[in-house]
Amino acid sequence: MSSNAQAPVSHFIRNIVEADLASGKHRSIVTRFPPEPNGYLHVGHAKSICLNFGLALEYGGKCNLRFDDTNPEKESEEYARSIQEDVRWLGFRWDGEVRWASDYFGTLYDFAVKLIEKGLAYVDDLTPEQMREYRGTLTEPGRNSPSRDRPIAENLDLFARMKNGEFPDGSLVLRAKIDMASANINLRDPVLYRIKRAHHIRTGDRWCIYPMYDYTHCISDALENITHSLCTLEFEDHRPLYDWVLDRLALSCHPQQIEFSRLELHYTITSKRKLLQLVTEKRVSGWDDPRMPTITGMRRRGYTPEGIREFARRIGVSKSENVVDMAVLESAIRDDLEARAPRVMAIINPLKVTVTNAGGAQSREAGFHPNHPEFGSRVVPFSSELFIEMDDFAEAPPAGWQRLTPGGEVRLRYSYVMRCDEVVKGAAGEVIELRCSIDHNTLGKNPEGRKVKGVIHFLSREHALPAEIRLYDRLFTVPEPDADKERSFLEFINPASLTVVQGWVEACVKDAAPETRYQFERLGYFCTDRRDHQPGKKLVFNRTVTLKDSWAKEQP
Ligand code: ATP
Ligand code: MG
Repeated sequence: MSSNAQAPVSHFIRNIVEADLASGKHRSIVTRFPPEPNGYLHVGHAKSICLNFGLALEYGGKCNLRFDDTNPEKESEEYARSIQEDVRWLGFRWDGEVRWASDYFGTLYDFAVKLIEKGLAYVDDLTPEQMREYRGTLTEPGRNSPSRDRPIAENLDLFARMKNGEFPDGSLVLRAKIDMASANINLRDPVLYRIKRAHHIRTGDRWCIYPMYDYTHCISDALENITHSLCTLEFEDHRPLYDWVLDRLALSCHPQQIEFSRLELHYTITSKRKLLQLVTEKRVSGWDDPRMPTITGMRRRGYTPEGIREFARRIGVSKSENVVDMAVLESAIRDDLEARAPRVMAIINPLKVTVTNAGGAQSREAGFHPNHPEFGSRVVPFSSELFIEMDDFAEAPPAGWQRLTPGGEVRLRYSYVMRCDEVVKGAAGEVIELRCSIDHNTLGKNPEGRKVKGVIHFLSREHALPAEIRLYDRLFTVPEPDADKERSFLEFINPASLTVVQGWVEACVKDAAPETRYQFERLGYFCTDRRDHQPGKKLVFNRTVTLKDSWAKEQP
């Protein structure tokens, strides 16, 4: 089951786009992905990226990458760089240069002056507490601020002086004059500008007033001739404000804001603030820790861009709740890797096997993928000392056991049928070695007169290379770690989410570059670590995903 070239799934936003193109409302579409550079992107952003860039690609339109950089204190160059890298890695290209809301600070200021001149905005000097009090509640209307009727000339003068740095931070704001009694609190004279002396990553100290997101976003969209402004559902109540600003400024372009539901993934979190907390409190090794739901973390773990895009396709786009089980993501990744990853053998938990009759035994050539002969082949060496997986031997096997057991036979993958003749134990009674013999007449053919069902993987000890193998499990022990208001999500971190073992791999992977993916037969998909793996020197593999979703079944 290959994931490539899957047909696009129909959804309500696609329907709107198709209708707008069919009716001639738009000749082509322009979308945008507007992250704030205040953290690394996560799997939820991947959904939004696939939607915005994907629609533009499919309908021959354009998609902009625009940084919504209106909160200078939380933003950084590192975040902006990582976001660009992540979008490119996912396989998308934005139209033209990267755009920044801060490129429009001058225009946004001029438009604010225009609103003041039209009597649609005013400078207010209420304290934040008073402001809250005047705003009213969901059930009670707000009250007009005493400054609401300030004369236009005075507003113009005060706003210019706010910009010129004549007032302390937070002492004045510019507000839209809409309706303090509106049922929609977002329309109760929302703040458009605030005073904040903060160094901005792009504009430095040039500005001491910064526009608010709601005011900035709609204007940025209009300036870029965006046709469909796609955002998550929490902005639904902000849409009247989006439209109000654009209508009052009478801009020639008025994009249509369309909301869709946020992606939430079970057993992880998709809040930037909480992901940042995991990083700053060193609960994980960094933003790219392979347990993180960040794009860079998923990349380091070995997820493929194609697999993540396929996941986005499978979960679809709608307005209803989008809480998805991790198994959906993992199966999209698995399906993609199935056809992509060469297959080799590795041993995670070795049990030594001595083959007592190995004299004259042959090594055998084996292809890297049953369906892809073009992946090539290698020789799977055989010798008198082997490693098999500890799990593949049982002294007292359960019913239906098809692996090795005292006196029993198994097929060694790509090699001989082998019988266990003797179990060697240590002082504590633990199994430390098996002494086995092979049937020399079974290389590449079935044994005569009997059936051997089980096949296990193995390595020739002298040919195998040691490797650090990192095994990952869910980062949290509960499906919704941040659902409990009384308890911190940090309490639900899975202490066993990372296990590092020293295992063994076939020598043919020795020179694999960082970010090379393999299937270790029967064990799962693995990827050489981007940071720590050194080809030919230090082999480090991250388990991307197991072969089958055994985890879901093990849960009660
Ligand atoms: P913040 O609270 O910092 O605004 P955010 O997750 O909304 O966090 P943005 O950088 O504003 O981060 O997000 C960029 C875009 O990605 C927005 O259009 C947003 O709607 C979308 N997005 C963010 N989180 C999700 C999610 N979980 N599912 C789908 N889209 C998302
Ligand atoms: Mg946001």
